[in-house]
Amino acid sequence: MQESEARFRSSFDHAAIGMALVSPDGRWLQVNDSLCRLLGHTSEQMLCGNYREVMHPDDLALSQTNINELLVGGSLARQMELRYIHRAGHEVWVLLSASTARDTHNAVRHLIFQVQDATLRKKAEAQLVYDASHDSLTGLPNRPAFTAQLKAALGRVEQQSGGGLLAVLFLDLDGFKTVNDSLGHGTGDELLKGIAGRLLKCVRPGDTVARLGGDEFTILLEGISNIQQAVEVAERVKEKLTLPFLLAGHEVFTGTSVGIASSLFGYTDPGDMLRDADAAMYQAKAQGKSCHAMFDEQMHEDATKRLCLESDLRRAVERNEFVVYYQPIRVLATNELRGFEALVRWLHPVQGLLSPAQFVPLAEENGLIVQIDNIVLAEACRQLREWQLQYADCGGLTINVNVSSKQFAHEGLVEVVKRVVKETGIDPRSLQLELTESAMMKNLQNTARVLNELSLLGISISIDDFGTGYSNLSYLHEFPISTLKIDRSFVNRLSGREEEWEIVRTILMLAHNLKMSVVAEGIETSEQLWQLRNLGCDYAQGYHISPPVKADDAAKMLPTGDGQFAFPSSVTARAGLRLVSAG
Ligand code: C2E
Ligand code: MG
Ligand code: MG
Repeated sequence: MQESEARFRSSFDHAAIGMALVSPDGRWLQVNDSLCRLLGHTSEQMLCGNYREVMHPDDLALSQTNINELLVGGSLARQMELRYIHRAGHEVWVLLSASTARDTHNAVRHLIFQVQDATLRKKAEAQLVYDASHDSLTGLPNRPAFTAQLKAALGRVEQQSGGGLLAVLFLDLDGFKTVNDSLGHGTGDELLKGIAGRLLKCVRPGDTVARLGGDEFTILLEGISNIQQAVEVAERVKEKLTLPFLLAGHEVFTGTSVGIASSLFGYTDPGDMLRDADAAMYQAKAQGKSCHAMFDEQMHEDATKRLCLESDLRRAVERNEFVVYYQPIRVLATNELRGFEALVRWLHPVQGLLSPAQFVPLAEENGLIVQIDNIVLAEACRQLREWQLQYADCGGLTINVNVSSKQFAHEGLVEVVKRVVKETGIDPRSLQLELTESAMMKNLQNTARVLNELSLLGISISIDDFGTGYSNLSYLHEFPISTLKIDRSFVNRLSGREEEWEIVRTILMLAHNLKMSVVAEGIETSEQLWQLRNLGCDYAQGYHISPPVKADDAAKMLPTGDGQFAFPSSVTARAGLRLVSAG
């Protein structure tokens, strides 16, 4: 008995963690060195008092509840995380495990406390919380933290019956990329830190400045009385940020575009408000450097419309609400039908027939254009095959299909084309893909590879809207291109004046030297048609001949007699200047 008592005594005294025996009414009966050290008291000092005296007042209730539970026998042991107060006055986080020792009558003799220092762990936890909510470079709140604060602030606005007002400023630096690229990332980082510092000086203590990432900063202004105050802050920010920064021996100039969104639009979702402030920022950027713009009714309406259109467009792709129209392309010299350009239309269930201008740019932005192009490609090829089967003379008819730059950059393009050709059973030589110069110039290596693969399949390539893009003629002979389509803006200008013809004449000469044929787009008058014929242009397309029409109406243009219809030599041998002799 004595031996075991001594063993307990020794392990108690020398334990690395704090240990204590405590009377049921809370007096310290016995404390070890570790506990004394943890709390900064001597054991004599401790033994004069009770455990409640060294506990943080805010944690008293919790510990009391737990200990009462133990005393009445509700549980055998309790663990709790709480704070003691060190003799020097600071808090000490501990993990307290309390249990009871009972006598033979099951009455509590004393409580046993085991006290582990949790300060380091608490600090590490706090650091983790801090890191998760702050940008490590500038120390400003990061995107999740800003979003959380904005959400809380919007909640407060909603509760105020008078309708409190708050604003979000969305900042994007002008020319930050240039600084990064020319002076290096180190300098770029210094600039961001400098900007964070200046931004903090532009706001009141209650306002929040955050860095969302990259060169995007946001400011939350709460409790403003009118929106003009937000504009004033924007002005101040722009002013402060146009002053140069001295970084690594350089005077670095920057500026910022600011978009402002206010709670007047009744936001409940912080993401929506940020999105609108961002949209306003883009508007500001479009106005020039160091401008600000307020998200207003018009932008709101545009954004809502856009959002609706976007979800409608997704559905349109799923249900295929697209209709393909066909515009004839004729041989200028003979007026024979060469083929059709397939032009997509969207039959919107509410808005009716929409032209590409109303949805193609949006589809290009969100990537849906790839699926739309595939739908049009498949439908146009299917239609061509149907005509060819129906009318014997349509064997050499061609179909032109537009390929967006997204679709062109898409890995699967060649596979899709192969599959469509195979499934529809068309002769690949009757398919011509139309690409713009900018689509080709984006990634020259990819362009060369894809165009070569396509031409190996027998498919030919047109450059669409020629003359409006790079007009970098040097690449033309490097790629297997069979046709140039002169943009209608040049055709439009073909009036009586000789100079106007010069550009068209030059394009024709160039193309013919490179053994390509030329289509003039957008011919609207007989005069233009006549002039283009005189200049030796090969093909014609435009309202004067026919606008794009539905498949049924296009079918009426098909040759039904027994005229000759063969592939143009430009397609078979890339040597086709005069396709059908004019006479
Ligand atoms: P584009 O490929 O240059 O097509 C020619 C456009 O000019 C067509 O407009 C056509 O209707 C129009 N047009 C034809 N003749 C005349 C004329 O005499 N005068 C005038 N003012 N315009 C004429 P549309 O159908 O509205 O298509 C516009 C653009 O949308 C197309 O320009 C093309 O870039 C794009 N697009 C059309 N369908 C598709 C498609 O299926 N996929 C992709 N990616 N883009 C398409
Ligand atoms: Mg086209
Ligand atoms: Mg065009």
